[in-house]
Amino acid sequence: MSARLLLLEDDPAIARTVAYALQRDGLAVTHSLLVHDARQQLQGARFDLLVLDVGLPDGSGLDLLRELRNAAPTATLPVLMLSAHGEEIDRVLGLELGADDYLAKPFSPRELAARVKALLRRAGHGGSNGNGNRNRNGQSAAVAPLFHDDEAGQRISLRGQSLPLTRREYRLLSHLLRGAGRIHSREALLAAAWGDDSESTDRTVDTHIKTLRAKLRELDPAHEYISTHRGMGYCVDVQ
Ligand code: CA
Repeated sequence: MSARLLLLEDDPAIARTVAYALQRDGLAVTHSLLVHDARQQLQGARFDLLVLDVGLPDGSGLDLLRELRNAAPTATLPVLMLSAHGEEIDRVLGLELGADDYLAKPFSPRELAARVKALLRRAGHGGSNGNGNRNRNGQSAAVAPLFHDDEAGQRISLRGQSLPLTRREYRLLSHLLRGAGRIHSREALLAAAWGDDSESTDRTVDTHIKTLRAKLRELDPAHEYISTHRGMGYCVDVQ
């Protein structure tokens, strides 16, 4: 089954090149020129990944990203941001808001396609080659064989063994894994796993991280996969 991708980009030439490169790789690409249209697309269908431009005629890609991260169905949607060259502030903001990767324009369509495929694999989408344990450089990636995130079934396995996770724990770990190696603030984790449930607090995140760690330890006592960064948040290390 080919992955479904939504491309939100108002520059027709860039959109055409990107869509061509991705379709050639077997991905189904839906293109939106406006934030308004993309929002409707996301409400109407399930997508596996969003390629998101920052500057759009009817709004900012960053605002849309914030909105998506705070809504349960799209809180963990992999997002690759595109932005004008040298807009450092967009890059920092984009990653802070929970973008999974970032490319500055101008970029090569091949680079974009490689990054898209890497994100899809990280999200548990095998892609056309069905091989989940190689990263875009062709090296063996630690993340795939260690953890497998089956998004459709909402299950994560560690070294081939299924983890008995609650729904919240699943969302929490899935979000951490998609941003493996990055520190996630408690606020970002709350938004990803709890959406707009206002009953939840930072303490809720800490409690769930604790049970997650216990479950991971049960399957693999030799490793501590989730690290705490004082005052900043949590990070999953898969190296
Ligand atoms: Ca633009």
